Amino acid sequence: MKKTVEDVKWEGKTALVRVDFNVPLKNGVITDDRRITAALPTIEYLAGHGAKVVLMSHLGRPEGEPKPEFTLKPVADRLSELLQKDVIFCPSDIVVDDKVKDTAKALEPGQVMLLENVRYRREETRNGADFAKELASLGDVFVNDAFGTAHRAHASTAGIADYIPCVSGYLIEKEVKFLGDTLEDPDRPFVAIMGGAKVGDKIPVIRNLLKKVDYLLIGGGMTYTFYKAQGLETGKSIIDEENVELAGKLLEEAGMLGVKLMLPLDSVCAKEFANDAERGVFKAEAMPADMMGLDIGPETVEAYRKVIETAATIVWNGPLGVFEMDNFAEGTRKIAEALAESKAVTVIGGGDSAAAVEKFGLADKMTHISTGGGASLEFLEGKVLPGVAVIEDK
Ligand code: ADP
Ligand code: MG
Repeated sequence: MKKTVEDVKWEGKTALVRVDFNVPLKNGVITDDRRITAALPTIEYLAGHGAKVVLMSHLGRPEGEPKPEFTLKPVADRLSELLQKDVIFCPSDIVVDDKVKDTAKALEPGQVMLLENVRYRREETRNGADFAKELASLGDVFVNDAFGTAHRAHASTAGIADYIPCVSGYLIEKEVKFLGDTLEDPDRPFVAIMGGAKVGDKIPVIRNLLKKVDYLLIGGGMTYTFYKAQGLETGKSIIDEENVELAGKLLEEAGMLGVKLMLPLDSVCAKEFANDAERGVFKAEAMPADMMGLDIGPETVEAYRKVIETAATIVWNGPLGVFEMDNFAEGTRKIAEALAESKAVTVIGGGDSAAAVEKFGLADKMTHISTGGGASLEFLEGKVLPGVAVIEDK
């Protein structure tokens, strides 16, 4: 178990909090503030328990230079509105200077300040010790609550912990609980659903999950690389040529480990990669040479749904078809609905999978939707994330 904000006596202490305020901006206006609202529970807990709060984040890719279009000023304004109190913004081209240090020192318990974009400094992404030390000098305890960057060892995500103790905020705590604990000690049957475009990107995830799950249901574009490994016709479907052999090995591995690895029984195929292309449903053994598989078919949905109904834990990564096009979204939608109806613990990882669940309006029916695309994949690969590793154990 990792220490959290609730394991610290905050009165009089300064919390140095790494948040993920990397919000989308259009002409200096925030177009989606969900990352800011997501950080509120941690900030409010700290401010409400007598901590002085110093927040830091990156925004975009200023690549080590103070570029005005990447200033966190609009975020400070929005955060002030959401917290209904003044957030002191500290504009500094070098993020930490004497004025910033003085401002941090002068904070009253419950007050909140926000530093300028940490990526204004080149040392941030290089995890430069001097910059980490400068940041650490601003606080007593480091609170990491930025899951989206937890897979990177940067100065503000990991380096600071060399100088002051580190605990998790509520967001990272939740990610560790649902991604980490679920994989460590799942209720069974444990079912993983893997889709998406390329096998290559997901091989480490599949490898790691094979050691843990009872069922692995394959869908999406990666299906056809597995078909090819079995010598089936794949038509114009996307194939990850480099990984055909490996796909065959994964099928063998699954067999040896006693994991029921299931491949789609049928696909919705189309002549072109277009929503209005001529299309039809074809069984795995009867894929037409001049068509491409763009969604799992109805027989597959039924077979997968039966497995999902028995599951106690489900981890899903990767859409089962090209859900961005309505005519190839049905497989992903039906499986998302099956998860929504299931009593199992349901964990969704991956940016596009999360987007699909949102699109179908089923987000609040899932146990946990991971917020970190890359970070959640590395978690599913079984990797140790630097930003999580630095958090002290209880
Ligand atoms: P995630 O972001 O959830 O990890 P990926 O990035 O691996 O997922 O894959 C998502 C993409 O895979 C989507 O854009 C989707 O359109 C695409 N995809 C799914 N099925 C197919 C298919 N049969 N052919 C081509 N692309 C597909
Ligand atoms: Mg993706």
